[in-house]
Amino acid sequence: MNLFAIKEAILDILYPQNIACILCRQRVRDIDDKGVCRACADALPVIVPPVCPKCGRPVVEEGICNDCAYVLYHFEQAVSVLHYTPEIKQLIHRFKYGGVSYLSRTLGWWMVQAFEQRCNWNVDVIVPVPLHSRRQRQRGFNQSALLARELGRYIGVTVNEDVLVRKKYTSPQAGLSKFQRMQNLQGAFEVKAPEAVRDKSVLLIDDVFTTGSTVDECSRVLLEAGARKVYVFTLATGR
Ligand SMILES: [Zn+2]
Ligand SMILES: [Zn+2]
Repeated sequence: MNLFAIKEAILDILYPQNIACILCRQRVRDIDDKGVCRACADALPVIVPPVCPKCGRPVVEEGICNDCAYVLYHFEQAVSVLHYTPEIKQLIHRFKYGGVSYLSRTLGWWMVQAFEQRCNWNVDVIVPVPLHSRRQRQRGFNQSALLARELGRYIGVTVNEDVLVRKKYTSPQAGLSKFQRMQNLQGAFEVKAPEAVRDKSVLLIDDVFTTGSTVDECSRVLLEAGARKVYVFTLATGR
């Protein structure tokens, strides 16, 4: 066996032909250990500056965005990893509703990389945005908690999945106006164990930052429970 044949044989074991890229679903050779092919990895819609220094959404010019000029968010700062493109939307949809929970490995890894590059934050505890218990039973898992676990494992910060609970079964936020979202979220969250966040710097994790009303309401109740600061880190955002 020559060297090339040996390399090919090893590659066949490491990357069997029947593994498809999780994004383009093509069965190609150069798939990385997170299940993404080279072409998709290179084309990943990573958010790069300029971004709004408060909400983390992309802006045309350096500086605070139009929304943040009017809204006073409770959190210190929000950062998102990816643009919410149709491809990323579909991927997150498969993750949340398609029962493909193992995608958290890849999505979480993207979050780890971005966190290390872009978030110069000192955090004491990671808290995922909770689902209502009924919804979590239907889905089988909380997607934000899975992402939080991946991140927590890499950066060595404890994830607390019990401190923040969703006590109100809200209708999905998609399609609602900003005002309707705020109404929908009123009284939706509760801090069950304030001592777990008191005087702590909290890293709040969610999958998508849309208007920011969900993470802001979570931030509000965490601060009310005694948290010192809340930072928000989400997988994707869009305007
Ligand atoms: Zn691909
Ligand atoms: Zn902003």
